[in-house]
Amino acid sequence: MGLIELASSASAWRGYDYFAKKRVLNYKKVNDHTYAGKVSGSGTDYDIEINLDKPRTSKCNCPHANGKRIICKHMVALYFAVFPEEAEQFYNDVLQAEQEEEKRQEKLQKLVVDYVSKMKKDDLRETLLELLFNGPDWQYELFLRDHIRECWE
Ligand SMILES: [Zn+2]
Repeated sequence: MGLIELASSASAWRGYDYFAKKRVLNYKKVNDHTYAGKVSGSGTDYDIEINLDKPRTSKCNCPHANGKRIICKHMVALYFAVFPEEAEQFYNDVLQAEQEEEKRQEKLQKLVVDYVSKMKKDDLRETLLELLFNGPDWQYELFLRDHIRECWE
């Protein structure tokens, strides 16, 4: 697996953000599979070395990754600085995934609206009561506030 695939999605996204904000100060090729560089962190600069063959042996002296086999945002930022076309691909993939999720939610919402509009009155009553009594408290309170006059008298 590549370095980006091994990073958590939060680290990958923050690393992309660091790259896009040009926080990678410099880097150099050490050998065919190793790059070393400096990334501007919050307050301090960090020294990073990424290993493309064995990403888990990559190093960064930030508190999150120092001495651990973790892929941190600084490593991701350095990786994207070395391979900017992959940064672009990553960004497009994230955008596309978000758009697909949005479409999926819209589709589901439409299915729910269609389904509810076809429900019989008794089933609607039963379902509503079930949602009110077994759902979250705020939902019950909201219903009381909006519909049950007695609770305000
Ligand atoms: Zn780091």
